[in-house]
Amino acid sequence: MSSQSPSPATQFISHAPGHWPDVSPEQWNDWKWQLKNRVNSLKRLEDLLEVTPEEHAGALLAGSKLSLSITPHFFNLIEPDDAGGPIRRQVVPRVEEGHTAPWEMADPCGEDSHMPVPGLVHRYPDRVLFLVTDRCASYCRYCTRSRVVSGAGEQELHTNFEEAFAYLEKHTEIRDVLFSGGDALLFSDDKLEYLLQRVRAISHIEFVRIGSRVPIFLPQRITPEFCRMLQKYHPLWMSVHVNHPRELTTEVRDALNRLADHGVPLGNQSVLLAGVNDSVEVMRELVHKLLLCRVRPYYLYQCDLIQGSSHLRASVAKGIEIIEGLRGHTSGYAVPQYVIDAPGGGGKVPVNPGYVLFHDDEKVVVRNYEGKIFEYPEVAIPFTNHHKTELCPG
Ligand code: SF4
Repeated sequence: MSSQSPSPATQFISHAPGHWPDVSPEQWNDWKWQLKNRVNSLKRLEDLLEVTPEEHAGALLAGSKLSLSITPHFFNLIEPDDAGGPIRRQVVPRVEEGHTAPWEMADPCGEDSHMPVPGLVHRYPDRVLFLVTDRCASYCRYCTRSRVVSGAGEQELHTNFEEAFAYLEKHTEIRDVLFSGGDALLFSDDKLEYLLQRVRAISHIEFVRIGSRVPIFLPQRITPEFCRMLQKYHPLWMSVHVNHPRELTTEVRDALNRLADHGVPLGNQSVLLAGVNDSVEVMRELVHKLLLCRVRPYYLYQCDLIQGSSHLRASVAKGIEIIEGLRGHTSGYAVPQYVIDAPGGGGKVPVNPGYVLFHDDEKVVVRNYEGKIFEYPEVAIPFTNHHKTELCPG
């Protein structure tokens, strides 16, 4: 028998109850208890962590920007002795959020200018983004929608549900609806079911997706009853959002398995973040762990040019280096598509390492993951006797 310890990629750890030793397992596993007991003030943060001056100033800013709010489950993942730790950087505000670089924007993906109805973004021909709420279980400091999410920023989200349904009914070219926000999984089962029923009642809508970070921030929400409700509305897909392997705890793995067991195909959207996941090693561990949770790494996003996010943005060169370090070196299913959401509303643009070295009407020259060069004919060459002689001399 091997005495080797499991590789990091196969280690799933529970951090419960951590900072909440006196809480009963029933309370801890109750998603409403988790929401009620979120760490959402500087005072509470200071009770639980040694807060740095940068974080102190950041938490004061959060009241007029994106709120501070962290579920106890996710808070326990924070590295207490590492002020630059990958979990902490994602959810604890820092003073740098107050600095806006000249190229940063409140609405970097140009969503507001593609909103025919309040709360419905129609940017691509056959699909829409339905912003059903502005609330999340915890708030990510780099959130693309921080102008509306949490309700503390400069804009408010006023989704008009009836107008949105009427728009969806009228626009028969729409075949794909993505529920996002905010996070639709914060709704009660009944409320989310009502929205799913309304969308499913529209015959030309083939595909419903939910974008959610709740399975990661609040895995207790993924109850068997909730999964049974979702199962009635297939085909229903879910995109989760995990950035670092530490986020994949035993509770999160079990929640993802419950969703998969109820037939929900799962993809992951990571955001490339400086000091969080900007290395091949961390990303490799993350994508391998995701596959163990039955989640297909789907997108790796270049961090949008959201105001106050410079300290979290890694370079595009780093993103390309990560994909180069994964492609060919691990299972194809483990390699996400790296994309830049084109600033101002251009949509997602895939960004890949340069594997095509030359391309004309006759041939394409490519390099593989080992750097070896190969040539492939571009056009089918008519098969003549001359070729036959050349190719088959015997
Ligand atoms: S979960 Fe999504 S919508 Fe909510 S704060 Fe994080 S990135 Fe923004």
